Amino acid sequence: MSASDKDGRATGGPAGGPAIANLTDLFAVAWQIEADAVERYKLLAEQMETFNNAELAYIFRDLARAEGIHRDEIQRMAGDIDVVARARELPEWRMGESPEKADLGEAHYLMTPWHALQMALAGEERALGYFQHVVATTDDPKIRDMAQEFAEEEAEHVALCHRLLKKYPAPQTEAWAEDADPPVPLE
Ligand code: ZN
Repeated sequence: MSASDKDGRATGGPAGGPAIANLTDLFAVAWQIEADAVERYKLLAEQMETFNNAELAYIFRDLARAEGIHRDEIQRMAGDIDVVARARELPEWRMGESPEKADLGEAHYLMTPWHALQMALAGEERALGYFQHVVATTDDPKIRDMAQEFAEEEAEHVALCHRLLKKYPAPQTEAWAEDADPPVPLE
């Protein structure tokens, strides 16, 4: 993993994820990524409800549902493997403490649709980058094929975020900063 860091990969990118020794680990990480995505999209949907953005709230709820279905599919695919227990054992990349989640809490008071989509995109890109990293580095064809499937799914989510960002461009800085009423204005 330190080798990847030297290649200049972004912090929190694929190099930050757990190494995959076997299919069990891959299922466990994929399960955790989906479970994390469900929580993130639920939070983002709540944010958009606060902003009275029904369209994005609906989209995020839909994504939360889709990621939840995928999470449960992964659990089924894993069969007898206890992916939830294995996910907890994984030594690195504690998803509950992921940078995206920390940002989500801090950005709470100034969240706009654009910000919400940036959070969504960051999560999807990280997941995509991680699976692509597994595809590129594993010697096991079974792991490669499965990781490739996961990567394709995440690529669709990344594309969706990009499409939505075209519809919800970055707000004018002054406009959302005024509304946001930040506790410590930086002036
Ligand atoms: Zn996704």
